[in-house]
Amino acid sequence: MEFAISAHGLRKSYGDIAAVAGLDLEVRHGEVFALLGPNGAGKTTTVEILEGYRKRDGGEVRVLDHDPAAANAEWRARVGIVLQGTGEFEELTVGELVRHFAAFYPKPDDPDEVIARVGLTGKAKARTHGLSGGQKRRLDVALGIVGRPELLFLDEPTTGFDPEARREFWQLIRELNTAGTTIMLTTHYLDEAEALAHRVGVIAGGRLVEVAEPSRLGHREQAPATVSWRTPDGTVESAESDTPTALVAELAARFDGEIPGLTVTRPTLEDVYLRMIGAAA
Ligand code: ATP
Repeated sequence: MEFAISAHGLRKSYGDIAAVAGLDLEVRHGEVFALLGPNGAGKTTTVEILEGYRKRDGGEVRVLDHDPAAANAEWRARVGIVLQGTGEFEELTVGELVRHFAAFYPKPDDPDEVIARVGLTGKAKARTHGLSGGQKRRLDVALGIVGRPELLFLDEPTTGFDPEARREFWQLIRELNTAGTTIMLTTHYLDEAEALAHRVGVIAGGRLVEVAEPSRLGHREQAPATVSWRTPDGTVESAESDTPTALVAELAARFDGEIPGLTVTRPTLEDVYLRMIGAAA
């Protein structure tokens, strides 16, 4: 079983709308895979089919060597799902809720430890309705990982997080992955995909249009570099170059040493992503 997830020719329509239109996808064991795509591209539909929460119209799907459409309780216990807004049970405390969820699984993690990992120890005795948006999201994550899943689905996990909470969350994801959890996440944050994912898949119009390592998406590492510098009269000049090293050497000779205001940049993941979905549309 090489792949944790494989889908071939996956299709799902809602009336006239082909939400997923022949999608092929493979996620390796131990991988962090990020699914990117504009609103309405078919990410949620795809992920819900993989999770066993939505019926497909066609195609082959294997998730942890089972067809999610015929999922049993044993398979469900191996798959963690972080949904938005699971952790809103008005009258329960954080600790009670995580313990309650832990009881559904055959080999759960220690609830207090899970609460600590998501940074909610100080809120363990607080009722869930009093949590901030970011704290509720952390609780959603705690509920998704307390069963010690082999495969974890995260749907836009850091929406509403402050920058520090995002960095802490990324660290948590890396730790889970290092401990062996395969992770599939959807996100609209390109920096998040770049920071976490081994590979990203771009979905547009219900199809996967490219899969690559973040640094290689859209032949990004071969794209021309933009070199800019400041001239002696103070204006900024820039040039695109396929051979930026040669250009920098030439500039260094021209300035006889340090080049004022030198920057060398390549297209960002966001640049190539926007170009890609523009072309797909
Ligand atoms: P977003 O980034 O906005 O969450 P997405 O990539 O997750 O978007 P989906 O939610 O999978 O996209 O939607 C794909 C298409 O299917 C959209 O055109 C959407 O309007 C349509 N769609 C999704 N769910 C339903 C539904 N239950 N009934 C009818 N149409 C739906």
